[in-house]
Formats: sequence, C-alpha cells, structure tokens
Amino acid sequence: MTPEQTITQLKNDLGSRLCILAHHYQADSVVRHADILGDSLELARRIDGLDAEHIVFCGVHFMAETAAILARPGQKVHIPDPGASCVMAEMVPTLLAEKVLAALNRDGARIIPLTYVNSSAAVKAVCGRHGGSVCTSANAATMLRWAMSQGDGVLFLPDANLGRNTARVVGIDPARIERLDIRAEGTFIPAADRSRDLYLWPGLCAVHAKFHPEQIAVVRRDEPGALILVHPECDPEVVAMADGAGSTSYLIKAVAEAKSGATIYVGTEWNLVNRLAERHPDKNVRPLRSVMCSNMAKITEDNLARTLSGLDTAEPVRVDDDIARPARVALERMLEACR
Ligand code: SF4
Repeated sequence: MTPEQTITQLKNDLGSRLCILAHHYQADSVVRHADILGDSLELARRIDGLDAEHIVFCGVHFMAETAAILARPGQKVHIPDPGASCVMAEMVPTLLAEKVLAALNRDGARIIPLTYVNSSAAVKAVCGRHGGSVCTSANAATMLRWAMSQGDGVLFLPDANLGRNTARVVGIDPARIERLDIRAEGTFIPAADRSRDLYLWPGLCAVHAKFHPEQIAVVRRDEPGALILVHPECDPEVVAMADGAGSTSYLIKAVAEAKSGATIYVGTEWNLVNRLAERHPDKNVRPLRSVMCSNMAKITEDNLARTLSGLDTAEPVRVDDDIARPARVALERMLEACR
C-alpha cells in the first residue's frame, strides 16, 4: 500500500478515535489528510473541543507540546517527526530567560513576560509563573496591550520582529523599546535606566528573515500595481513597505478578498503561498521569495503513515507536570483575553 492508502485506511479504521491537525505551512501531501487545518491560534483553540483519543499534530514540536498541555487527561498527542523543531523557539534557553527576567525585575520592577507561541513549553511556563502569557501572530496586539496593563513593562520573546511590528500597531514609542543583548550569558546587564516599556528578546524566524526591502523595491519597480502582503515575523522595514501585514489567517483572508485578476506577492512560507495560488486561479498569487521551513518539511506522508500505524503503542508527546501546569496558566490567560 502507498502511504496515502495506509493513512486513508487507518483514518477509516480509527474513526472518531483519531484527529489529525495540520499547520498551514505543511505540504499538500500532508494537508490533504488533515481533519483541521489552521494557524497556531486556530489549532490551539480547537484542542479544547476535541474528543479524539489520539491527536496527531502535523507541525513543529512546540505546537505538539502546546496541544499536549491543552489536551484532556487520557488524550494522547503525537507528532510524526519529534525532530521537527523551530529555529526561533530554540533561541530561548529557559534558564537565560529566567535570568534576564530577574535582572529586569531587580529593584522591584514588574516586567511581564509575553512569549510568542513559537517557544518551548518551558519558556511558556516561565511566563505562567511570572504573571505573563502567550500570544500568536493573530492576537499579538491584543496580548501586548494586555501585558502592558499588568505591570511596568513587557519582556517580549522570542521574536524581536513580531515584537517591534506589534509595538508599532499598539503605538509604543520606539524610544521606549530596547532590543536586548543577551550574548554575555550570566553577565546580562539591562539598560542603564531600565525604564523601557518593551524589551525584545533578539530571536527571529529563519524563514521570514529571508525577506528584504530590496525584494519589495523590485516588485514596486517592475509591477507597480501589485499588492504586497507579508507576515509580521518579517523585518519591520519590510512590513512598513508592504501593503499589508498580518498572521497566516490574515494573509489567507486578504488574498481571498483581493479582486479577481489582482497580482499579489506574499511574503511567508512557500507551502501556504503555493496553496493560495492554487486556490485562487483567477488571481496571480506569487511568493515574494520562495522560502520553505525545513522543519515543517520534516513531516511527510511517509512518517504520518508510520505514526498512524503505531498509535496504540507509540510514546506520545509528554510535558512534565511542573512545566505543563504553569505553561497551561500562560496559555489559558491568552485564550481568556482573546475570547
Ligand atoms: S516558519 Fe519560522 S517560526 Fe515557523 S516553524 Fe519555521 S522557523 Fe519556526
């Protein structure tokens, strides 16, 4: 049997015991088997309503961890390749995050940690323990406003670009934002006056960092009528030059709402752009640059078929209770604030 046939048969056999979730950056060969397709926020929101015993998450590891944290007791979350990590999520060593937060909070300040969902469960737990929360690219502005209202300032991690782009939406004065220099591990010294509203962890997405102002300038020169849409993990200069910027859901909606015949350049992961082009043959949907996430690409039809074949004996994704509990607190604060 081909992997496709194996998956189809096992889905039939398992019926309601199984639910396959897939992120928009997954390849079509995986997406076609998904019961639910979505961005990080949509997928996190759907976990609560799932009755399936086995949740198979086609995405990167932090997404499967988030699902495992939000799943009910007895539900098992699986990922077809546990090695599908996220470069950005790995840019925050948990102990260093704790150390930086402690340094910012010395002398009695109350800096609230707000982590992008693209982070480990351990970093989400740090946020949960210190009055903070989680955000996605779809609700970053809401959550940054929320975090600002909880204390004297915010430590936003790991994505400095999303932090700065969101700060612009929220209206934070750029002079009151500091991008942290965390290279001197163990000797981190926060800004002299420590009176910033927003401290940015210097992380980035390896995919969205590949979009540059020059690419937009070339499109503007050669196709002045084209619409340019980008993801807010892109450099703030790229976002400022684009016609629109927003989460994956925003990009999908903006392309759908563009008029027939429009030429639209999209600055995000190639699989999504390609799918949008196929879905809207009446429009010219093109990648601003063709960039794929090598970690998202680790999930294949082959390893999905193998995962489904061994579900009953497989070791599910586990998050230790001392991490899962505070991480859940951080996630629930987000789901509550964004009802
Ligand atoms: S696209 Fe970027 S943020 Fe998303 S999983 Fe890949 S490296 Fe991480």
